[in-house]
This record gives sequence, structure tokens and C-alpha cells, in this order.
Amino acid sequence: MSQDTAQPMPVSSSMPRNALVWFKRDLRLRDHQPLVHAAMFDACAGVYIIEPEWLACPEFDSQHLDFVLQSLLPLRTALAERGLPLLVRAGSTLPVLESLQREFHFTHLLSHEETGSGWTYQRDIAVARWCKAHQVQWQEWAQTGVVRRLQQRGGWAKRWQSFMDSPRLAAPKGFAGAALDISDLPTLKALGCSNCGINSPSRPIQAGGERAAWEVLNAFVQGGAMGYRRALSSPLTAETGCSRLSAHLAYGTVSMRCVHQSTEAAIAQTTERDLAFGLRGFAGRLRWHCHFMQKLEDEPAIEFQNFSRAYDGLREAHFNRDYFDAWCEGQTGYPMVDACMRSLRATGWLNFRMRAMLVSFASNHLWLHWRETGQFLARQFLDFEPGIHWSQMQMQSGTTGINTFRIYSPRKQAEDHDPQGVFINRWVPEFGTAAYPSPIVDERIAVKFAKDQLYGVRGTNEARASANTVQERHGSRKSGLPAQGRIKNTNQQRKPPKPRVTEPSPQLEMF
Ligand SMILES: Cc1cc2nc3c(=O)[nH]c(=O)nc-3n(C[C@H](O)[C@H](O)[C@H](O)COP(=O)(O)OP(=O)(O)OC[C@H]3O[C@@H](n4cnc5c(N)ncnc54)[C@H](O)[C@@H]3O)c2cc1C
Repeated sequence: MSQDTAQPMPVSSSMPRNALVWFKRDLRLRDHQPLVHAAMFDACAGVYIIEPEWLACPEFDSQHLDFVLQSLLPLRTALAERGLPLLVRAGSTLPVLESLQREFHFTHLLSHEETGSGWTYQRDIAVARWCKAHQVQWQEWAQTGVVRRLQQRGGWAKRWQSFMDSPRLAAPKGFAGAALDISDLPTLKALGCSNCGINSPSRPIQAGGERAAWEVLNAFVQGGAMGYRRALSSPLTAETGCSRLSAHLAYGTVSMRCVHQSTEAAIAQTTERDLAFGLRGFAGRLRWHCHFMQKLEDEPAIEFQNFSRAYDGLREAHFNRDYFDAWCEGQTGYPMVDACMRSLRATGWLNFRMRAMLVSFASNHLWLHWRETGQFLARQFLDFEPGIHWSQMQMQSGTTGINTFRIYSPRKQAEDHDPQGVFINRWVPEFGTAAYPSPIVDERIAVKFAKDQLYGVRGTNEARASANTVQERHGSRKSGLPAQGRIKNTNQQRKPPKPRVTEPSPQLEMF
């Protein structure tokens, strides 16, 4: 997001140069530009701020904080071994910076750029002003392929490729760390959050931390990606067949560049055609990750309003709280929808196609606006990443103005991806008994209503004009790059085997 970042301040050469590394969604040691830069300063320290604004925002869930705390614990140890104290402070960012300024006179604030929610955008504007007023130089670096102050979308994919191919950064061996006391990490309970966590029977979540991220990455590129494209669509196979790197990418326990380079290296090295085929499909999705984040970076308002304003007013007045509650509880009477929702609520993860079906059902069958359903889902997804999330919410709700309307039939999804009813039986054991509710809406009537409304808007001049603007600003371009990962040696140029089950077309997942 474009913001008023402080211009470099002249710092007197006699003054000690002290750096504060501000960790946000980059909880790692390797491939971390601010850390590499901090190693060159007279003294340095790190800080992670647990902001009350985050804990209070409607997208927050304690599983997010749990993942962060799990990631901070080993990171603090690793940094301490290299001489850098990593402080973890609870409070709003400006007061925390004020107090750190008193304790440790930092002249430079070093961080990665963040493409976050509205509140982080506003906070960053305030931090930039604070830095200017206090003669602190704030330096920020990109950590994904997202480009700040992008002038035009053309050529974006090539820039992405060149950033991802650039050398990754080794972890600094040592720092001139400031003599600051790092107290114990706060607990979830002390921060007022509980009822989740890796050890919690009520909600076991995926393990956080840099080591876990690399274990997941290595296992996937060294063999786990073998049947990736066949496993993607069914909730039965996706859980183990997808990479499961999303939460690690969202919190930066591994950098996108490292994931990309490990993937490319594995493609180049493997003699297994099926593995190379799976990895190429995966490599393409890494680019989509940044492609979607770029949309929010370029237009922060898409978190709150339709990409195409022609669709404003379509659903707002029709919000049915009973439908919403039934959808959230997995009690809609549509077993595939309910099984997906219950599984998501129990695990914090769901595969792409089933996420899309949940949203399509809420937005079309139940005619609920994507804002409130999106906030609810953001709390359920451990990997909540605002740029991907809000773009996908709108895409599956038909409000981008430039995508084909796709209304998923829960019945067809069950037939295609859970033909024996194994997934449904696991999550909705009462299905087929009197305890299970009847369908909350009549599918035929509900879908007809949704189509009439959406196509009614699409036919208007306003919608056509707005579609051109959205396409110009956000639509994907022909990049000149092969669609799904580059082919590096002749070994890889043999024809890939035909997938037995078709993977979702990129059109389904991307615009
Ligand atoms: C309504 C909706 C909301 C979503 N919200 C999020 C979100 O908050 N955070 C998030 O990371 N993903 C989100 N996704 C995209 C996708 O469902 C997840 O990235 C994927 O399921 C994560 O599992 P994985 O890491 O095993 O994926 P894999 O299939 O192994 O993919 C690898 C990585 O590629 C990226 N990726 C995969 N699919 C997509 C996609 N369609 N668009 C953009 N990037 C993609 C992700 O970074 C993912 O970790 C959403 C999808 C929908 C339909």
C-alpha cells in the first residue's frame, strides 16, 4: 500500500547508529533483509509488537496469535545466540516505539513492507509520521513479489520472477546487540486468548516456527508434491496432498523466495516426472499468492467495497442472520457445505475448492454479503492473508465484475470429490437421521434468484465500464512466462503424464 514513508534523515556521523528491527509477518532468521542490514549497525535490537488493534479486529482469532508465539519462541533463542535481543511487547505501536526510544536510542527502524488490513495501513501511516518527527529513518524492504507504488500491471510477472530468482540472504552470524533485557514471552492466557493451540484438544493447529516451515517445505518438494494436482480438489486428499505452506507464508516463517528457489531446484533435480509435474503446478500458485496480494496493495479499499462498484447495493439489505448463523455452525442442511465448515472450524484449514464452495454457497444460495462471511472465515483460516482472502471472497461472490459467475452446486461437489460420503460421514455423522436439518433454502429457487440479480447488473453500461477499469488495474496479464513454473533442463522437457483427475482450471482460482 502506498504510504507516506519517511525520507532518509541526515544522521550525524558522530552519533551512534542504532537499529531496531520491527518483526511483523516475517518471523524468521533466513532470507531476512532487515536483519542483514541490522548486522551493520553499532547496536541493534528486535521487537515484535502484539497490538491490541490486532487482537480486537474482526478477522483475529487466538489461533493466529498462538502460531505467532510458537514462531517467536525459537526465533528469540536463535537471535539471542547471535547477540540480538528480540523484545516482545504488548501495546499499540506508537507507545511501544516511544518507550523503546527512551530505552534504546534507535536511529533506524528496519522492517519488511506489509500488505495488510486497513488498520495496519493506518498504523503504518502513523509510524511514518512518528519516525519523521523523531528523526528516525524507517527503511522497508519487499519480501514477496508485491511491488509498492506499482504504476502499471504490465511486466509484473517478469519482475516477480527476477525478485524470486535473486540470491536469498544467509542469516547473519552475529550482531552488536543492545544490552536490553528480554522478559519471558507472554502467554495466550495472559493476553486474554485461549481455547486453541497445538496442544489444545479443542483446536489443534498446525505447528509454527521456521524449523517447522522448512520441514514442511522439504517434505513437499522432495516427494510430497508427487500427486499434488490430483489431490488438490477433494477435501479427502488435499489435507495431505497440498503443501500446507500457507500459514508459514502468511507469517513469514519461510520467505516466498526460499520456497520458490527450493521448488525450482527440486524440479531441476528430480527424475520423477510426476513429482516435477506436481511441483510445476505448485510453482504457479506461488506467483498467484503475490498476484492477489498486489491487488490489495494497489487498492486497499477492496477489503471493504466491491471491486466493481456496479454491484454495490445488491446484497447489503438482504442479510439474513439466521442463514448466516446456520452457515457458520455447519447446520445448513447441505451436507457437503456443513462438513467443510465443521472441518475448517476444527482444523483451521480447508482446500481451495471447498473454500470457494463455502463462499459461493453463502453469497449465492444464502445471498449473504461477502464482508461478514469473509470476516468469519478469516478467523477460521490459520493462514489468513488479507490480499488473497478479500480478492477470493469477491471473486467467489461475483463482485469483481470481470470473472465468469461460478455458482457451485454442493451436491455436485460431493459427487465429484466425496463420492463414497467418507468426508461427510466424518464431519456430519448425523446426516440421514432426524437430527440433521432439512435444507435451509431451496437450491433451484435460490440459484435462479442469484443468477437473475448478478446477470441483471452485468448487463448494465455501468458494469461494463467498471469491468474495463478493474481489468486494467487488476487483471492478470500474459506474462511471457510459461504458465506453471519454468522448465530448466532437457530432462524436464519430456511430456508430463496426463493427470487422472483434472485440477481446477487457473480461471477458477485466479483473475
Ligand atoms: C474464499 C477464499 C479465501 C482464501 N483465503 C486465503 C487466505 O486467507 N490465505 C491464503 O494463503 N490463501 C487463501 N486462499 C487460497 C487457497 O485456498 C489457500 O492458499 C490454500 O488452500 C492453502 O493451502 P496450501 O498452502 O496447502 O496450498 P497449496 O495448494 O499447496 O498452494 C501453495 C501456496 O500457493 C498459494 N496459493 C494456492 N492457491 C492460491 C490461490 N487460489 N490464490 C492465491 N494463492 C494461492 C498459497 O500461498 C499456498 O500456500 C483462499 C481461497 C478462497 C477460495
